[in-house]
Amino acid sequence: MHAESGRTRDIHCPADGSPVATVDEADRADVEKAIAAARRAFDEGSWTATSPWDRGDLLLRVSDILVRDKAEFARAESLDTGKRLVESEYDMDDIAACFRYYGKIAGTDAGRVVDTGNPDAISRVQYEPVGVCGMITPWNYPLLQVAWKVAPAIAAGDTFVLKPSELTPSTAILLMRALAEAGLPAGVGNLVLGAGAEVGAVLSEHPDVDLVSFTGGLHTGRRISAAAAGTVKKVALELGGKNPNVVFADADFETAVDYAMMAIFLHSGQVCSAGARLIVQDELHDRLVDEIVRRAEKIRIGGPFDANAETGPLISAAHREKVEDYVAKSIAEGAVLRTGGRRPEGEEYANGYYYLPTVLDEVEQGSYAVTEESFGPVLTVERFTDEDDAVRIANDTHYGLAGAVFTSDPGKAQRVANRLRHGTVWINDFHPYLPQAEWGGYKQSGIGRELGRAGLGEYQEAKHVYHNLRPQPQQWFSGE
Ligand code: NAD
Repeated sequence: MHAESGRTRDIHCPADGSPVATVDEADRADVEKAIAAARRAFDEGSWTATSPWDRGDLLLRVSDILVRDKAEFARAESLDTGKRLVESEYDMDDIAACFRYYGKIAGTDAGRVVDTGNPDAISRVQYEPVGVCGMITPWNYPLLQVAWKVAPAIAAGDTFVLKPSELTPSTAILLMRALAEAGLPAGVGNLVLGAGAEVGAVLSEHPDVDLVSFTGGLHTGRRISAAAAGTVKKVALELGGKNPNVVFADADFETAVDYAMMAIFLHSGQVCSAGARLIVQDELHDRLVDEIVRRAEKIRIGGPFDANAETGPLISAAHREKVEDYVAKSIAEGAVLRTGGRRPEGEEYANGYYYLPTVLDEVEQGSYAVTEESFGPVLTVERFTDEDDAVRIANDTHYGLAGAVFTSDPGKAQRVANRLRHGTVWINDFHPYLPQAEWGGYKQSGIGRELGRAGLGEYQEAKHVYHNLRPQPQQWFSGE
């Protein structure tokens, strides 16, 4: 169904500004219609009576369609984001795997029987859908972030209204086609396109939305949380990170360099779990940072279909200005610019939003540079002396999404991993995640978890059913 607002938005590729698509733009009335459709499908349709096994089968069919149409989806994702095609193809594999995982676990947890301690009573806890879910997602991994919400919501038996980022709507549109082909009944899944402040805000505050699940920036998350408070709806937040990458002097040098580069420069740093803070043991500092700087200067930048490119542009002019502002402020407060800190030169970059891989050395703990998320290709470097110092520095952030530790000492690796206050910790690795393992943030990186069993739990209510098998008057009150 088209937006009745009559408004449209032009989507451009951030790599060269070329037109990608013109899509409908919803207004408040359109969003309210979508919410009403989701409400009706939940309250009156047959959807909530479907068995979780059937919903699981539907998700497996979606996964198959995504595998079949991988090339079309990956191309659309790359055009919207400017991301290298090969990365979009990896993302598509992960997205299909997410639908497959929730397809397989739908219906495998029927709840549990609870011991009442009373032979004349039985009790069980069962899981039911939350209801109508509002989903608001960002532009950096457009369809992946959508999949992490839509797949468990379908497994749970919810209905939903999805609002993807206004910058990258194309693959969400394709997904709706795939859901219909897989047999999702009309009204269960609804898509609205448009700007956050107008379209997203309605989902956060509307009384007919039971849960709002948001992935995006901290400041938007706070706004959504506040808007949701008026109706005390459930809120799930996946927010930003300022993620530490702790490298001990005993780490394998080649591995540590390689992963430190990938941790921050992949997708030009536009990754919520980017290893933006390199925290390196004093005696390794010079050698490690010199080598990262040397290699950063060799990174080949280009558009999504340039087979030679190793990373691409930032998402928009506004975002590049934000990154530039972050770097300028960091340098002003004392960070040492080792490389980058500017746009690349050359005709081929003129119409895209490119920014050079940047290294800021000798940043102060607690400074702007290590507190704020740049969400660009900017690595900051801090030094530490010993294990306690490393843990203290790595935890000194209001974020808590992810972190890594590189060392050849397994005992030290485990001790540090246990002490990091971050939702995911990698040891001698960076960025892998699994659909079967929970993902989410400590502290101000979020509320709740996506993926894994807990990711399904976000879309369920737990109900306790207590059955008295021998009903007889208790005579609490005598009646006389
Ligand atoms: P953003 O917060 O600007 O926007 C995210 C979404 O929220 C968009 O769809 C936007 O239209 C919408 N929105 C904006 N204002 C709104 C409002 N007032 N009410 C309702 N919706 C509103 O974030 P972004 O720039 O798209 O994405 C980058 C951020 O996302 C980074 O901070 C990154 O760390 C975070 N992120 C986190 C994860 C995670 O798993 N924790 C994953 C990806 C991205």
